[in-house]
Amino acid sequence: MESLNRFSLIAPCGMNCGVCMTYLREKNKCPGCRDDKNVLGYCRKCIIKNCEKLKENNWKFCSNKCEKFPCTRLKNLDKRYRTKYNMSMIENLNNIEQLGIRAFVKNEKMRWSCSECGGTICVHKGYCYSCGEKKQQN
Ligand SMILES: [Zn+2]
Repeated sequence: MESLNRFSLIAPCGMNCGVCMTYLREKNKCPGCRDDKNVLGYCRKCIIKNCEKLKENNWKFCSNKCEKFPCTRLKNLDKRYRTKYNMSMIENLNNIEQLGIRAFVKNEKMRWSCSECGGTICVHKGYCYSCGEKKQQN
């Protein structure tokens, strides 16, 4: 899936907007957090996306260089996603830091590609948006 190759879909919090149901759905799609003007829903007001530290330091992602890392907002988000969706923003951020964004995006592509049709598995729904195949637990 071409969209998963796009670095611009990895949000500052470590979320892959490319596997979000709001990005994948047909109607009223969200373009992802990096699109300031058109980002939808609660992400619009997210304090991570709008964090001054990121802007001041010109960091593309939350970083352990930040003295607040991981901040309360990030920890809460991370906990919710680990519990409900079996995905961790903090783990993603650590991988981005260690592997670099290029390798991270490549791994993400493998992680979320449907084995049946090559479509994208939605992190929220847990199945492929193109054919309905369920994600294999790994
Ligand atoms: Zn599929």
